[in-house]
Amino acid sequence: MDLMEYQAKELFAEHGVPVTLGIVATTPEEARAAAEKLGVVVVKAQVKAGGRGKAGGVKLAKTPDEAFEHATAILGMTIKDLPVHRVLIAPAASIEEEYYFSFLLDRANRRYLCIASVEGGVEIEEVAKTNPHAVKQIPVDPGTGVDEEKARAIVAEAGFPAPLTDQAVALVQALWRVFVEEDATLVEVNPLARLEGDVLEALDGKVSLDDNADFRHEDHAVFEMKDETDPLEAKAKEKGLNYVKLDGEVGIIGNGAGLVMSTLDVVAYAGERHGGVKPANFLDIGGGANAQVMADGLDVILGDDQVRAVFVNVFGGITACDEVANGIKGALEILGDHATKPLVVRLDGNNVDKGRAILEELGHPLVTQVDTMDGAADKAAELAGA
Ligand code: ADP
Ligand code: MG
Repeated sequence: MDLMEYQAKELFAEHGVPVTLGIVATTPEEARAAAEKLGVVVVKAQVKAGGRGKAGGVKLAKTPDEAFEHATAILGMTIKDLPVHRVLIAPAASIEEEYYFSFLLDRANRRYLCIASVEGGVEIEEVAKTNPHAVKQIPVDPGTGVDEEKARAIVAEAGFPAPLTDQAVALVQALWRVFVEEDATLVEVNPLARLEGDVLEALDGKVSLDDNADFRHEDHAVFEMKDETDPLEAKAKEKGLNYVKLDGEVGIIGNGAGLVMSTLDVVAYAGERHGGVKPANFLDIGGGANAQVMADGLDVILGDDQVRAVFVNVFGGITACDEVANGIKGALEILGDHATKPLVVRLDGNNVDKGRAILEELGHPLVTQVDTMDGAADKAAELAGA
């Protein structure tokens, strides 16, 4: 899960990274009231995307009325296709210099990486291109992490100005605590600003949390924002389904991530013969394909207005085909009139004959059985293309 700036800053504050939290507003009136409390402020769009400044989503407001005006404009914007529902009203800082700092997972090298630059503020990718020597990449051994000595080495290599050394060492250690203790895969500060009076402060923050570690961070649940996630994905998550919305017309249900991935491929391929239809989602219902799981999965997929046909591709293993067929039958009963789109079902594997016979006997008008995966993909694409 990626956090918004104000959420990242909340985590920063908890771990002792110097930040000014500000006030989150969802209406121009709230923005004005916040500015009345804080004085000169910046109004900052809260969306999960970088480059907000460039897009006009970060504006200085000298008076509460100006904050009202900027909030009106920014709350009506979309940045990289993301509508802005919130603005952060942050006290305006007097910036003297802007630096870049991050910790991230270096998967290829099986370790962590610190990236630091005294030329921050703008996009770091740009600096890396035009002035690669200004961007330091410092490996961090996961076994030893970042203690004070390592933090000093990082600060020295990054080239922070001497008067800031001790603050920077403390800040690097605090960011490391955010990274490790919150199970983040990315912690980024850009700009890390040198303010008037040689004070270091994180003026922006980006944090990606590792969802696989959710179980040990109940407190992270507050970061999830229903209005910012796709409603179908939210519904699937509620039901414990492994679902990812895609941009196509053929709904997909399968068991096992590998089978579902290859189903996406064959459907995309078959779709080329039927007007360019594409898979509408990834959905792995896993091993226990009982009626309720099948009904939940179908319910989510049928809720996707773009879907015109559904392909159920199941390979019977521990859960045999007859159980899956009964699951589909049960799901159609549970859904009743709610099931409105054609289903192409391909069953194979354990107890395939029994499974097919159950659906044959059911004779449901929406269900078509096809024996092969390629054939079924073609049929589903044809129905979705029509
Ligand atoms: P983004 O990275 O999405 O463009 P930032 O939070 O980095 O958004 O803001 C962009 C720029 O706006 C920063 O580089 C900084 O110059 C300026 N800025 C951000 N926050 C403040 C603040 N509190 N006071 C003054 N200037 C700010
Ligand atoms: Mg930034």
